[in-house]
Amino acid sequence: METPVVDPVCGTKLNPGTVTYKYQYLGRTYYFCSLECTIAFDEEPEKYKVDIDMDFPFEESR
Ligand SMILES: [Zn+2]
Repeated sequence: METPVVDPVCGTKLNPGTVTYKYQYLGRTYYFCSLECTIAFDEEPEKYKVDIDMDFPFEESR
């Protein structure tokens, strides 16, 4: 079962098995829907990194 991942730039949910754009940053892999979003993250990774950390409460679903 694939866990959906979120494009930290635009918020689109992506399937990590089929996503084309990936970016390694500080030991984590981030996924993007498009080259534009990948470039946006590359320019300001600190800005989007914070967003994705707050964006994952749904891992603990009960
Ligand atoms: Zn995107």
